[in-house]
Amino acid sequence: MTLKLLRALIMGPPGSGKGTISSRIIKDFSMKHLSSGDLLRHQILLKTEAGLAAKKYIDQGGLVPDDIMVKLLVDELKQIKTSSWLLDGFPRTVPQAQALYEKEPLDVVLNLNIPDYIIIDRIKGRWTHAPSGRIYHTEFNPPKVPGKDDVTGEPLIQRDDDKEETVRKRLEGYQKMTQPVLQFYREHGILEEFKGKYSNEIWPHVHKYMSTKITPLQYTEYS
Ligand code: ATP
Ligand code: MG
Repeated sequence: MTLKLLRALIMGPPGSGKGTISSRIIKDFSMKHLSSGDLLRHQILLKTEAGLAAKKYIDQGGLVPDDIMVKLLVDELKQIKTSSWLLDGFPRTVPQAQALYEKEPLDVVLNLNIPDYIIIDRIKGRWTHAPSGRIYHTEFNPPKVPGKDDVTGEPLIQRDDDKEETVRKRLEGYQKMTQPVLQFYREHGILEEFKGKYSNEIWPHVHKYMSTKITPLQYTEYS
């Protein structure tokens, strides 16, 4: 008997809950999670040739060139012969998508389509106690005293990363870069979109869809 393994990709803007949804997929279905960012960080740690080449670009805040990424990911995927996998962070460009298509074509692409204003609201409410790294949220996890750390009483700051203007720019950059990739998969008829505001709202739909593609590890019913 040959096993039909599922080759999947998850896409979604920063702050979309992609990490949450990915970890739930891994928990409920037998799949290996492959994050290009984690893979790169691991290669850098091991000081491999690919890792050292990639580091230069990452340190400058740019993308790693397509040829390095494709080789790294395709080599990794070749080693996973007995498990379904869920890619995360790769492909990020059309040439990467094209190259993967020629070597290991995907079966499904999940796209988390979360309105920008939700992501901006979520991130801009985040306040940090810099010395400890404790994070608060004005709405979901407010400090006991507004603007002050619960433990030390010291002032909270907003990281540049979490400021509205920065988040907005990051989202625009993400949309610009990924639209052609999404279009590529749309044309291949494998793009499945999930719209919603919260992970808990989206998750039942993702679970249901995934269940049509791969057998869940155990039966779970979502109403
Ligand atoms: P996230 O918010 O999802 O963590 P990120 O931009 O930090 O987004 P990671 O996936 O953590 O992305 O990857 C870290 C860095 O590795 C990226 O900033 C980029 O330089 C590089 N990288 C990761 N995946 C790719 C890819 N598919 N193509 C090119 N560069 C990549
Ligand atoms: Mg990252």
